[in-house]
Amino acid sequence: MRDLLSDARVRAANLQAEVRTFYEDKMPNSLKQKSAHHQVLDKAEYVSWMKLLDAQSWAIGHWPKEYGGQNWTLLERFAFEDQLARLACPWVIPFGVKYVGPVIYTFGTEEQKNRFLPSISSTDDFWAQGYSEPGAGSDLASLRTEAILDGDAYVVNGQKVWTTYAQWADWLFCIVKTTREAQAQKAISFLLIDMKSPGVTVKAIPTMDGYHHVNEVWLENVRVPTSNLVGAEGEGWTYAKFLLKNERTAGAIVGMAWHALDRLKTLAQENNSAVNQRIGELELRFLALEQGAYHAVESMMLGTDNGTEASFIKLRGTELYQDIAEALIDSLGLAGIAYDKDALHVGAAPPLGPEDAGGIIKEHLYNRAATIFGGASEIQRNIVAKGVLGL
Ligand SMILES: Cc1cc2nc3c(=O)[nH]c(=O)nc-3n(C[C@H](O)[C@H](O)[C@H](O)COP(=O)(O)OP(=O)(O)OC[C@H]3O[C@@H](n4cnc5c(N)ncnc54)[C@H](O)[C@@H]3O)c2cc1C
Repeated sequence: MRDLLSDARVRAANLQAEVRTFYEDKMPNSLKQKSAHHQVLDKAEYVSWMKLLDAQSWAIGHWPKEYGGQNWTLLERFAFEDQLARLACPWVIPFGVKYVGPVIYTFGTEEQKNRFLPSISSTDDFWAQGYSEPGAGSDLASLRTEAILDGDAYVVNGQKVWTTYAQWADWLFCIVKTTREAQAQKAISFLLIDMKSPGVTVKAIPTMDGYHHVNEVWLENVRVPTSNLVGAEGEGWTYAKFLLKNERTAGAIVGMAWHALDRLKTLAQENNSAVNQRIGELELRFLALEQGAYHAVESMMLGTDNGTEASFIKLRGTELYQDIAEALIDSLGLAGIAYDKDALHVGAAPPLGPEDAGGIIKEHLYNRAATIFGGASEIQRNIVAKGVLGL
C-alpha cells in the first residue's frame, strides 16, 4: 500500500509539472489573459479549451485505458485539476468527461459506448445535467419528471431546473421516474435525451453576476428511444449516486482558493491595506484544506476512507473560497462596487481598479452558489455528522 501511495504521489507531481509546461508552451495567450482576468468564455472558447486538453490526453485522463483514458489514480486526477486552477485556467467542463462518460462506460451498452464516448472525449457533443427539479434538489429522490413507456420510446414530461449550460447542450443526461408504482428510489431511471428532440424548451435563469449560466428545461411529450436508457429500468438511483460521488471530488476548489489567496496578497501589498491578519487566518485555513484534501483523496484512493471525505473537501473548500473572494472584494475598495459586466465580454478595462477587478467581482457573485450546487453545505454537514460522529 505504501508503494502504491508513493508511486501515485510521484505520478501526480510529474503530471503537475507537465501541466505547468503546457501552460507556458501551449496555452494560447488570449485564453491565458481572459482566464486570468475571469472574463466570460463563450461555447466555442470552452469547446476549444476542452479540445486542447483532449489533445494532451488529459480531458479523459481519469478514464480506463480501454476507453482511451490514462487510468489516472484519484490522486492524479485531483492534483491535475488543482494545478490547472492554480494557474487560473478555465475549469474542466465536467458534464461529459467527468459525469456522464463514466456512467456510460460503467453501466451502458456497447452501442451506447460506441455512440457517445468518442464525442464526449472530444467535446463534439456538449452535455448538461438534468437532475434538479423544483422541489427536488437536496432531496433528489422526490423528483417528479415522468418517462412512460410507449412502444419503443419513453414519453417524458416534467421540468428540470438550474441546468447549467443547457442553452449550449446537445445532450441532457436525466433522472426520471419510469413508474408511479414502486417506492421512490426504485422508480428512478437514467435517460440520455437529445436536446433537439421536439418538446424540449430551454428558458434562461439570469444569475446575480448578470450572466446566463443556468436554465429551466421543460420536457413536454418528449419521445426518447428506449436505446437511450442507461442500465436497467428502475436502477437509475444507483447510477445517479455513482455520478454524484465524482461530482464532489474536484481538486479545482483547492487551486481556486490558492489562486484567489495569492491575488489577495498582491492586492493587499499594492494597496498597502491593513488586511494582514485576515490574510493570515485565511492562509491557515487554506493550508488545513490543502493538507486535509490531499490526505482525504489518498485515503479514498487506498480504500481506507470513511465515505465522508468528498463532503469534507466540498464543504471546507467552497466555504473558504467564498471567504477569500469576499476579502478580495474588500481589498478592491471602491473598485469592488463598480461592476461593469459587459467589459468582461469584450475584454475592456473595468471602470475602476486593476484589470481583473470586474472578474473578481463576477467570481465573488457567481460563487455564492458554490455552497449550494453539487450538494448544499447543510447536506455535506449531515453526511459528515453521520459518517464521523455516527449521528
Ligand atoms: C449555479 C447553480 C448551478 C447548478 N447547476 C445544476 C445542474 O447543472 N444540474 C442540476 O441538476 N442541478 C444544478 N443545480 C442545482 C443544485 O444541485 C441544487 O440547487 C442543490 O442541490 C440544492 O437544491 P435546491 O436548490 O432545491 O435547495 P433545497 O434542497 O430546497 O435546499 C434549500 C435549503 O435547505 C437546506 N436543506 C435541505 N434539506 C436539508 C436537510 N435534510 N438538512 C438540513 N438542511 C437542508 C439546504 O441546505 C438549503 O440551504 C445548480 C444550482 C446552482 C445554484
